Amino acid sequence: MASRLAQTPAMFAAATRQVVKHLQGLLLPAACVFCGETQASGHVCHGCRTDLPWIACSCECCGTPLARSLPTGVRCGNCQQRPPPFRATIAPLHYDFPVDAAIKALKFGRRLYLAPALASLALPALLRQAHDYDALVPVPLYRWRRASRGFNQAEELANCLHRFTALPVRHCVARIRATEAQSGLDAATRKSNLRGAFRMIAAPGCERPLIVDDVMTTGETCRELASTLLAAGVRYVGVLTIAHASP
Ligand SMILES: [Zn+2]
Ligand SMILES: [Zn+2]
Repeated sequence: MASRLAQTPAMFAAATRQVVKHLQGLLLPAACVFCGETQASGHVCHGCRTDLPWIACSCECCGTPLARSLPTGVRCGNCQQRPPPFRATIAPLHYDFPVDAAIKALKFGRRLYLAPALASLALPALLRQAHDYDALVPVPLYRWRRASRGFNQAEELANCLHRFTALPVRHCVARIRATEAQSGLDAATRKSNLRGAFRMIAAPGCERPLIVDDVMTTGETCRELASTLLAAGVRYVGVLTIAHASP
C-alpha cells in the first residue's frame, strides 16, 4: 500500500516513517500517554496513574462522587429521590485534569490512541464486576454526528474493553435525534431533550448489558438509554464511564 500511495520521494519517506513507527509500536516498550515516559508495558506509567484524579467515594448506583462512602446498599439522595433505571455505575475518575483533557483530545482531536489508555483505567473496576454483565453497549451518536467525527468515542472505548474482557459489543440501539450537545442546558431541559432519543435497531442479544460512554454528567443520557434497553426486555442495565463530571 505504501508504494501505491507514495508517488513522490517526500511521500515515500512519510509512508516509510509511518510503517517504522507502527513496527516500533509493536516491538518497543510503550510511552505513557500522559508524560511520554517510556515503560515496559501499558499505556499509563505508574507515577501518572497514581496522580490521576481517582474518585475515592461514590454512589454505587449513579457513580456521583461523594465526600464520604455510604453503607453498602445505600444510594445517594438523588438516586433515592429519583431512582435511575440502571442498577450500578463504574466511573473511576473525576472529570478533571488531565482526564478531561485526554477525553477531549480523543473526541475532538481524533487521538484514537487514547482510547485503550482511558479504557485501561476503568479496567480494574470493570474486572471486579465483569461477571455481572454479558455485553457492552456503547452510547450511540446521532448518525450525522458520527459521520462528521468519523468515529464514536464510546464505541472505541467499548471495543478496547472488549479486547480486555471478551464481553461482546452490541450495536443494538440507534440515536434517532441529535441530542449530544447537552452542555449549557439545565437538568430539566436535558431530560426533556433526551426523551425518545434512542430506538432499538436490533434485538438486545444480551440480558445484562453494560452501557459504555466517555463521561457521565447528569446521567440523563444513560437513564434514557437504559430505559430503552429495559423496554426491549433486558433484565438489568449497568453503566461504565471513564470519568464522572459533577453536574
Ligand atoms: Zn506518565
Ligand atoms: Zn446515586
